[in-house]
Amino acid sequence: MKEEHLQMAYRVFERAAEMSESDANLLERARKALEDAYAPYSNFFVGAAVLLENGSVVVGSNQENASFPLSLCAERVALGAVESLFPHAKVLVMAISIRNQKKPIDRPAAPCGACRQVIVEKEWRQKAPFRLLLQGESGPIYVFESGRDLLPLTFDPDYL
Ligand SMILES: [Zn+2]
Repeated sequence: MKEEHLQMAYRVFERAAEMSESDANLLERARKALEDAYAPYSNFFVGAAVLLENGSVVVGSNQENASFPLSLCAERVALGAVESLFPHAKVLVMAISIRNQKKPIDRPAAPCGACRQVIVEKEWRQKAPFRLLLQGESGPIYVFESGRDLLPLTFDPDYL
């Protein structure tokens, strides 16, 4: 028997002004996108903004449903919109911003497990990772170089 260890690195920015203008702008687009969320049940608003290699930005927000399991996360709404608007477009960066109407959140919220799987599938499809920028309502911003950093030992199409 041997013990293995997984490592995951990410960068922490205290504020968007420390980031590149492009990343700061994408975070702002994500923050604006969360205003379009439909979240009457959780009051948890999420916006995602995706920068494509062609320079376009596609946004998404969470869309809840009275039948709770049908609710859609902002990340998957945004990636679905990417494939609809720009089929096969390469994603470079995804920014995710949140706001909880019930209490302030001063740290980033990472994508849920289902979204991590969808993010990794997109990376697999485009044969390249993309960066994730995670932002709470206030507090630091976390930057990950790949969705795989958030989903180690990924199940991917290479198994099939
Ligand atoms: Zn999700």
